[in-house]
Amino acid sequence: MSTVTKVSNIHGVSVEYNQPLGLFINNEFVKSSDQEKIKTFNPSNGEYIVSFYAASEKDTNLAIDVAERAYCSSWSNTTPNERSELLDKLYHLTKKNRELLGTIETLDTGKPFHSNSLNDIDQILEVIRYYSGSCDKLTTGETFITENNYHRYTVKQPYGVVGLIVPWNYPLAMAAWKLFGCLAAGNTVVIKPSEHTSLSLLYYGKLLVEAGLPPGVVNIIPGYGEITGRAIAMSDKLQKLSFTGSTRVGKLMMEMSGQSNMKDVTLECGGKSPAVVFRDANLDNAASWIATGICYNSGQNCTATSRVYADKNIYNELISKIVEEIKQNWKISSTFDPFDDDGTLGPIINNTQYDRVTDFIHVGSHIEKLNRIDIFKELGECKGNYINPVIFTDVPQTSVLIQNEIFGPVLTISKFTTYDEVVKLVNDSRYGLAAAAFTEDYRLAHQFTKEVEAGTVWINSSNDECIGMPFGGFKMSGIGRELGATGVESYLQTKSVHFNLR
Ligand code: NAD
Repeated sequence: MSTVTKVSNIHGVSVEYNQPLGLFINNEFVKSSDQEKIKTFNPSNGEYIVSFYAASEKDTNLAIDVAERAYCSSWSNTTPNERSELLDKLYHLTKKNRELLGTIETLDTGKPFHSNSLNDIDQILEVIRYYSGSCDKLTTGETFITENNYHRYTVKQPYGVVGLIVPWNYPLAMAAWKLFGCLAAGNTVVIKPSEHTSLSLLYYGKLLVEAGLPPGVVNIIPGYGEITGRAIAMSDKLQKLSFTGSTRVGKLMMEMSGQSNMKDVTLECGGKSPAVVFRDANLDNAASWIATGICYNSGQNCTATSRVYADKNIYNELISKIVEEIKQNWKISSTFDPFDDDGTLGPIINNTQYDRVTDFIHVGSHIEKLNRIDIFKELGECKGNYINPVIFTDVPQTSVLIQNEIFGPVLTISKFTTYDEVVKLVNDSRYGLAAAAFTEDYRLAHQFTKEVEAGTVWINSSNDECIGMPFGGFKMSGIGRELGATGVESYLQTKSVHFNLR
């Protein structure tokens, strides 16, 4: 069930590895029941990579049954120490396979290998270490002082089998954010990667086996959203579902939960994160973080700081600095090869997303007729889905570019005059994932932190996550939190016990 795929790396040397192509169920890679396969392509050159099996509804239900058996027969009896030891082994295996996992990620997503894919793997290592350490530090609940003849307390218990559904922008990292906290809490798992980027998670199945994870504890089932994702969300056997992806599909998750067994749902959805630059800000610092916020992962980032509001007094200077910053540090490789070190901007994941981003650029340029800054010359002949960063200035709040998540390297910059005005503009969005503010005035910074409607606030930085802290959105950016202690708690349910001592 394996194939050997050739990958050319940075030095032009070929790397060969065994890429599993089957569904990973009960620690084995198996064909799908209907033999359906999905083709995956390299977004940096459009070349076909390989086809892997797609789980049907029947396969999905089988994976859930297997996970349920694994929970009842073995995993629910493991001690926190045993779970911690397994996560430790995974940590070391992930570290040992760091370069290969990064290579697979770059092959399948086009992310620049050194500046992006390896960062993803390094963050995954931090996540595993955090949750390995958390297994034996889970508190069991609270006790309550009530009547003398009663002992009342709460206990936290795993759900059993949990369904996890993840997107394509950080294929392995988004899986890691959910998977390791969920396992630490004592659940078994059925996880679906995006149909566009399933290779790295499938490969990770091999490491799960090598680490000695009991069969059925983690089942990886690639497939289409409408089939595999739907079968997970509609399952009556899952009491918990955790989803990362678009707000549109996040809403469907809630509907499907309601149509089936009202399972608990955690949602990490879209964003349209603002960056506000006040007149006293350190503009070099602001420009640098804003450029990172919109260019990292080519803007395919739920927390991309994609709309900038700048005080009118520093407006022009800030724009020049952002342009310069991007010119210096955010370039597409001259060879269009993401393994080549001279590029920090990768391609857009697929043709559909490419068309979506270029449509927004077209609307901004030709329908709304906004001022547009093209930082780089037009791209030469290339087969990949590359888009150079584009900045639109003096953008009105009503623009579709401000009201929608674009998910590409497209930045809007607008002017403001007063604090009250800018807070209104910032909060005028259906999203509330993250926000950044740049100022040296700590009173203003605290006021902004309090008034902005966002799950994460950065003061004088942007997109510098800390895996020990909760992450999630206000408004239509999501429900619930991941990472930190909440990354385990959200996979535990609370039971209240009333113990009559008479
Ligand atoms: P998407 O919603 O299209 O897909 C996400 C996952 O849901 C995929 O595995 C997909 O196969 C599945 N899916 C799609 N349609 C489905 C359906 N009808 N039923 C069941 N499952 C279905 O999102 P995407 O395009 O893969 O990812 C980009 C989106 O993810 C962006 O909106 C981005 O902001 C969001 N995102 C959010 C966070 C966060 O933490 N808040 C992190 C990363 C990405």
